[in-house]
Amino acid sequence: MTRQDTGAPPGGSWGRVTVAGLGVSGVSAARALARLGAVVTVVDGGDGERQRETAKSLEGEGITVRLGDGATLPEATELVVTSPGWKPDSPLFLAAAEAGVDVVGDVEIAWRLRRPGAAPWLAVTGTNGKTTTVQMLASILTAAGLRTAAVGNIGTPIIDVVLAQGQEGAEPYDVLAVELSSYQLHWAPSVRPHSAAVLNLAPDHLDWHGSMQAYAADKGRIFEGNQVACVYNAADPATEELVRAADVEEGCRAIGFTLGTPAPSQLGVVEGILVDRAFVENRHSSAQELAEVSDVRPPAPHNIANALAAAALARAYGVEPGAVRDGLRAFSPDAHRIAHVADVDGVAYVNDSKATNTHATEASLASFEHIVWIAGGLAKGATFDELVAGARGRLRGAVLIGADRALIREALARHAPEVPVVDLDRTDTGAMTAAVREASRLARPGDTVLLAPACASMDMFVNYGMRGDAFAEAVRGLRTAGGEQGQ
Ligand code: ADP
Repeated sequence: MTRQDTGAPPGGSWGRVTVAGLGVSGVSAARALARLGAVVTVVDGGDGERQRETAKSLEGEGITVRLGDGATLPEATELVVTSPGWKPDSPLFLAAAEAGVDVVGDVEIAWRLRRPGAAPWLAVTGTNGKTTTVQMLASILTAAGLRTAAVGNIGTPIIDVVLAQGQEGAEPYDVLAVELSSYQLHWAPSVRPHSAAVLNLAPDHLDWHGSMQAYAADKGRIFEGNQVACVYNAADPATEELVRAADVEEGCRAIGFTLGTPAPSQLGVVEGILVDRAFVENRHSSAQELAEVSDVRPPAPHNIANALAAAALARAYGVEPGAVRDGLRAFSPDAHRIAHVADVDGVAYVNDSKATNTHATEASLASFEHIVWIAGGLAKGATFDELVAGARGRLRGAVLIGADRALIREALARHAPEVPVVDLDRTDTGAMTAAVREASRLARPGDTVLLAPACASMDMFVNYGMRGDAFAEAVRGLRTAGGEQGQ
């Protein structure tokens, strides 16, 4: 029997633990485990200034840090804790497997640290929309008067949140809204949420998981042991398939969400109203109004789907309809996610820099009627044919930036040859300003200039946030320039 079956008692015998990686989650895991009496070694392949500084502070707390070698398993290791970014076939994990040592992630540790009666988890995964949905869910739970937090692949490390619960004077949470990435699920074999949702499933991170099948199987782990509801996307049969494959508690229900009229045991939309036909007295003949589409911001189709998934989890937990509406009204999306920056000369400028893959960009492009599309960056092995073919009728023009822009240009030439394309052959800091200027030339009043790159940002920017900031800055520049021209 493995450790995951028995669960180590808090403060109990964690033994000798090796933590992979000196990042935020690795440091949080190392500290927590050391405090609980484990003998902790952190290993990291890097040996830079940042790592040395972090190492020094950890060593002061009795934690051993080994820099410059992230591959060798320290002697007598009894448990390995992973960090995001470490591939499953990393030599350290292969060595652990060889030695018969469990490898788990921070979410698994957090789960094992829960005390009896700890707040149950309402969990969310999916290729896109996780953060948004978890935040909507937390907002709904808060509106219902429950003490909650959005945690997981977001905000405070989950171990810290769970541990704080045990501390004197800490207000216990009633329930947690937990975002789980496919990586985290891969390394969290014993997590058993109260209820969980898989929002959608599209190819992403396949280099990490090895295949679409393996990626889907990791996402599907979220349904294991669910007690009340497994929430799937009726428009994405692969998500329903995962519910069918899961081993759940007796009485746990499959609940769908749809942008159309809901069938019994689904949440959906009827004439602009979000309705619940799952958690009502008589679901065959009645439905419960939850909120209006206009209560969801932004009211784009994919975001309505996120709201329905959040509502389904909240309703599974017993939240009243009024709190769903109030929670959705109180929610405002994080920056860089279909954020309206400004209107200039009748053209709307929208920043969806967080659209770093084609699935997110597809949703983004489906949200507006006439679009001048700013795209490009690092493609991460993606192809763009389907995306471009689907968006063709909406594209007024395209402005391409970044390292892999030729891939998008070629897809446009193949599937939308009539769409004017500006190919910006520059990657300096002024490139985004030039892109916005070019886009403004292509746009007509009533159009939307949309930054939805379908690519990662690191070829030109530190991260997607900086890319979005550069876009917003360039739009502001446009307004100033317009003003100076006396408009
Ligand atoms: P995640 O946490 O899964 O990365 P976010 O909520 O941060 O998700 O959104 C990431 C990107 O995906 C944004 O560009 C957003 O506009 C887009 N997006 C959000 N929800 C969905 C959805 N349900 N389907 C497709 N794309 C979505």
